[in-house]
Amino acid sequence: MNPDHELGKIADAVSACKKCELCHSREKGVPGEGPSDADIMFIGEGPGFHENMQGRPFVGAAGDFLVELLAAIGLKREQVFITNVVKCRPPGNRDPHPEELQACAPYLERQIQIINPKVIVTLGRFSMARFIPNAKISEIHGQPIRCKGMLVVPFYHPAAALHRPSLRSVVEEDFAKLPDLIKNAGAAPAYKPEKPFEEDNHPEQLSLF
Ligand code: URA
Ligand code: SF4
Repeated sequence: MNPDHELGKIADAVSACKKCELCHSREKGVPGEGPSDADIMFIGEGPGFHENMQGRPFVGAAGDFLVELLAAIGLKREQVFITNVVKCRPPGNRDPHPEELQACAPYLERQIQIINPKVIVTLGRFSMARFIPNAKISEIHGQPIRCKGMLVVPFYHPAAALHRPSLRSVVEEDFAKLPDLIKNAGAAPAYKPEKPFEEDNHPEQLSLF
Protein backbone atom coordinates (compact mmCIF):
# COMPACT_ATOMS: atom_id res chain seq x y z
CA MET A 1 0.00 0.00 0.00
CA ASN A 2 1.31 3.43 -0.94
CA PRO A 3 -0.21 5.72 1.73
CA ASP A 4 -0.01 8.88 -0.38
CA HIS A 5 -1.79 7.11 -3.21
CA GLU A 6 -4.44 5.84 -0.80
CA LEU A 7 -4.98 9.35 0.61
CA GLY A 8 -5.27 10.63 -2.96
CA LYS A 9 -7.99 8.08 -3.66
CA ILE A 10 -9.95 9.41 -0.67
CA ALA A 11 -9.55 12.99 -1.92
CA ASP A 12 -10.86 11.95 -5.35
CA ALA A 13 -13.81 10.13 -3.78
CA VAL A 14 -14.68 13.15 -1.63
CA SER A 15 -14.71 15.56 -4.56
CA ALA A 16 -17.25 13.37 -6.38
CA CYS A 17 -19.17 12.11 -3.32
CA LYS A 18 -22.95 12.31 -3.19
CA LYS A 19 -23.50 10.30 -0.02
CA CYS A 20 -25.13 13.16 1.86
CA GLU A 21 -26.88 16.51 1.42
CA LEU A 22 -23.67 18.46 1.91
CA CYS A 23 -22.64 17.64 -1.64
CA HIS A 24 -25.06 20.39 -2.71
CA SER A 25 -23.25 23.14 -0.80
CA ARG A 26 -19.83 21.90 -1.88
CA GLU A 27 -17.73 24.18 -4.06
CA LYS A 28 -14.64 22.07 -3.39
CA GLY A 29 -14.41 18.98 -1.22
CA VAL A 30 -12.02 19.36 1.70
CA PRO A 31 -10.58 15.91 2.34
CA GLY A 32 -7.74 17.16 4.55
CA GLU A 33 -4.03 17.59 4.02
CA GLY A 34 -0.68 16.72 5.50
CA PRO A 35 1.96 14.02 5.39
CA SER A 36 0.76 10.42 5.26
CA ASP A 37 3.20 9.57 8.08
CA ALA A 38 2.20 12.46 10.37
CA ASP A 39 2.57 11.90 14.13
CA ILE A 40 -0.37 14.18 14.87
CA MET A 41 -3.77 14.31 13.24
CA PHE A 42 -6.06 17.27 13.95
CA ILE A 43 -9.74 16.65 13.34
CA GLY A 44 -12.02 19.69 13.16
CA GLU A 45 -15.69 20.04 12.42
CA GLY A 46 -16.21 20.88 8.78
CA PRO A 47 -15.12 23.26 6.04
CA GLY A 48 -16.22 26.88 6.32
CA PHE A 49 -16.47 29.50 3.59
CA HIS A 50 -12.76 29.79 2.75
CA GLU A 51 -12.11 26.07 3.06
CA ASN A 52 -14.96 25.36 0.64
CA MET A 53 -13.54 27.82 -1.90
CA GLN A 54 -9.95 26.57 -1.65
CA GLY A 55 -10.50 22.85 -0.99
CA ARG A 56 -8.13 23.06 1.99
CA PRO A 57 -8.85 22.69 5.73
CA PHE A 58 -8.39 25.49 8.26
CA VAL A 59 -7.41 28.32 5.94
CA GLY A 60 -9.64 31.02 7.51
CA ALA A 61 -9.31 32.82 10.85
CA ALA A 62 -9.42 29.60 12.90
CA GLY A 63 -6.70 28.21 10.64
CA ASP A 64 -4.48 31.24 11.21
CA PHE A 65 -4.80 30.71 14.94
CA LEU A 66 -4.09 26.99 14.57
CA VAL A 67 -0.89 27.82 12.67
CA GLU A 68 0.09 30.21 15.48
CA LEU A 69 -0.57 27.57 18.13
CA LEU A 70 1.49 25.04 16.20
CA ALA A 71 4.35 27.50 15.76
CA ALA A 72 4.43 28.04 19.53
CA ILE A 73 5.36 24.36 19.95
CA GLY A 74 7.79 24.36 17.05
CA LEU A 75 5.54 22.78 14.45
CA LYS A 76 4.57 23.87 10.95
CA ARG A 77 1.15 22.99 9.56
CA GLU A 78 2.92 20.96 6.84
CA GLN A 79 4.13 18.56 9.54
CA VAL A 80 0.69 17.56 10.80
CA PHE A 81 -2.37 16.06 9.14
CA ILE A 82 -5.43 18.32 9.32
CA THR A 83 -8.93 17.20 8.46
CA ASN A 84 -12.58 17.36 9.54
CA VAL A 85 -15.45 15.05 10.49
CA VAL A 86 -17.37 16.21 7.42
CA LYS A 87 -15.51 16.91 4.22
CA CYS A 88 -18.02 19.29 2.59
CA ARG A 89 -19.26 22.61 3.88
CA PRO A 90 -22.53 22.68 5.79
CA PRO A 91 -24.57 25.57 4.32
CA GLY A 92 -24.09 28.77 6.32
CA ASN A 93 -21.69 26.86 8.61
CA ARG A 94 -24.59 25.13 10.34
CA ASP A 95 -23.85 22.10 12.52
CA PRO A 96 -23.45 18.86 10.59
CA HIS A 97 -26.48 16.57 10.94
CA PRO A 98 -26.12 13.07 12.39
CA GLU A 99 -26.82 11.41 9.03
CA GLU A 100 -24.12 13.58 7.41
CA LEU A 101 -21.58 12.69 10.10
CA GLN A 102 -22.45 9.05 9.61
CA ALA A 103 -22.26 9.19 5.82
CA CYS A 104 -18.86 10.87 5.92
CA ALA A 105 -17.33 8.73 8.69
CA PRO A 106 -15.76 6.06 6.44
CA TYR A 107 -13.46 8.64 4.82
CA LEU A 108 -12.10 9.70 8.20
CA GLU A 109 -11.84 6.07 9.37
CA ARG A 110 -9.75 5.25 6.33
CA GLN A 111 -7.54 8.32 6.80
CA ILE A 112 -6.85 7.32 10.41
CA GLN A 113 -6.07 3.78 9.29
CA ILE A 114 -3.64 4.95 6.59
CA ILE A 115 -1.87 7.61 8.66
CA ASN A 116 -1.96 5.74 11.98
CA PRO A 117 -0.94 8.87 13.91
CA LYS A 118 0.60 8.75 17.38
CA VAL A 119 -1.94 11.27 18.62
CA ILE A 120 -5.36 12.36 17.39
CA VAL A 121 -6.35 15.86 18.49
CA THR A 122 -10.05 16.59 18.25
CA LEU A 123 -11.00 20.22 17.69
CA GLY A 124 -14.55 20.97 18.74
CA ARG A 125 -17.52 19.04 19.96
CA PHE A 126 -18.47 16.94 16.91
CA SER A 127 -14.97 15.67 16.51
CA MET A 128 -14.67 14.92 20.24
CA ALA A 129 -18.09 13.24 20.32
CA ARG A 130 -16.99 10.88 17.61
CA PHE A 131 -14.39 9.32 19.91
CA ILE A 132 -15.69 10.27 23.36
CA PRO A 133 -19.46 10.58 23.04
CA ASN A 134 -20.28 11.22 26.66
CA ALA A 135 -17.92 14.00 27.59
CA LYS A 136 -17.85 17.68 28.36
CA ILE A 137 -14.99 19.56 26.76
CA SER A 138 -14.67 21.84 29.81
CA GLU A 139 -13.92 18.76 31.93
CA ILE A 140 -11.64 16.74 29.71
CA HIS A 141 -9.84 19.16 27.39
CA GLY A 142 -6.13 18.49 27.13
CA GLN A 143 -6.40 15.05 28.74
CA PRO A 144 -5.21 12.07 26.69
CA ILE A 145 -7.59 9.15 26.39
CA ARG A 146 -6.90 5.79 24.78
CA CYS A 147 -9.80 5.14 22.44
CA LYS A 148 -10.12 2.28 19.96
CA GLY A 149 -6.36 1.81 20.25
CA MET A 150 -5.61 5.43 19.42
CA LEU A 151 -4.40 8.15 21.74
CA VAL A 152 -7.04 10.87 21.51
CA VAL A 153 -6.71 14.33 23.07
CA PRO A 154 -9.75 16.63 22.97
CA PHE A 155 -8.96 20.32 22.54
CA TYR A 156 -11.24 23.30 22.31
CA HIS A 157 -11.80 24.39 18.74
CA PRO A 158 -9.46 27.30 17.91
CA ALA A 159 -12.52 29.28 16.77
CA ALA A 160 -13.93 28.95 20.30
CA ALA A 161 -10.96 30.91 21.64
CA LEU A 162 -11.47 33.54 18.96
CA HIS A 163 -15.08 33.94 20.13
CA ARG A 164 -14.24 33.72 23.84
CA PRO A 165 -10.92 35.42 24.58
CA SER A 166 -10.87 33.93 28.10
CA LEU A 167 -10.31 30.52 26.47
CA ARG A 168 -7.18 31.61 24.67
CA SER A 169 -4.73 30.80 27.43
CA VAL A 170 -6.50 27.48 28.06
CA VAL A 171 -6.05 26.55 24.41
CA GLU A 172 -2.43 27.66 24.46
CA GLU A 173 -1.72 25.59 27.58
CA ASP A 174 -3.32 22.51 26.01
CA PHE A 175 -1.19 22.90 22.89
CA ALA A 176 1.92 23.25 25.04
CA LYS A 177 1.28 19.71 26.33
CA LEU A 178 1.35 18.15 22.87
CA PRO A 179 5.10 17.51 22.49
CA ASP A 180 5.17 15.50 25.73
CA LEU A 181 1.98 13.67 24.85
CA ILE A 182 3.56 12.50 21.62
CA LYS A 183 6.72 11.42 23.43
CA ASN A 184 4.69 9.39 25.95
CA ALA A 185 2.09 8.18 23.48
CA GLY A 186 2.37 4.63 24.81
CA ALA A 187 1.28 5.50 28.36
CA ALA A 188 -2.27 6.85 28.26
CA PRO A 189 -5.08 5.22 30.26
CA ALA A 190 -7.61 3.10 28.36
CA TYR A 191 -10.86 4.95 27.74
CA LYS A 192 -13.80 3.37 29.52
CA PRO A 193 -17.06 5.28 29.13
CA GLU A 194 -18.85 5.34 32.47
CA LYS A 195 -22.33 5.55 31.06
CA PRO A 196 -23.90 5.30 27.65
CA PHE A 197 -24.80 8.31 25.57
CA GLU A 198 -27.54 10.34 27.23
CA GLU A 199 -29.76 13.06 25.96
CA ASP A 200 -28.63 15.55 28.62
CA ASN A 201 -25.05 15.10 27.54
CA HIS A 202 -25.79 15.83 23.94
CA PRO A 203 -22.89 17.65 22.26
CA GLU A 204 -25.37 20.42 21.48
CA GLN A 205 -24.80 21.62 25.05
CA LEU A 206 -21.18 22.24 24.31
CA SER A 207 -22.04 24.73 21.62
CA LEU A 208 -19.59 27.58 21.66
CA PHE A 209 -20.99 29.47 18.74
N1 URA B 1 -13.20 24.96 11.17
C1 URA B 1 -13.18 23.61 11.08
O1 URA B 1 -13.65 22.91 11.96
N2 URA B 1 -12.63 23.07 10.03
C2 URA B 1 -12.07 23.78 9.06
O2 URA B 1 -11.56 23.18 8.13
C3 URA B 1 -12.09 25.17 9.18
C4 URA B 1 -12.66 25.75 10.25
FE1 SF4 C 1 -19.76 12.83 0.87
FE2 SF4 C 1 -18.82 13.57 3.26
FE3 SF4 C 1 -19.26 15.39 1.37
FE4 SF4 C 1 -21.32 14.19 2.56
S1 SF4 C 1 -19.82 15.54 3.54
S2 SF4 C 1 -21.10 14.54 0.34
S3 SF4 C 1 -20.50 12.11 2.87
S4 SF4 C 1 -17.75 13.72 1.30
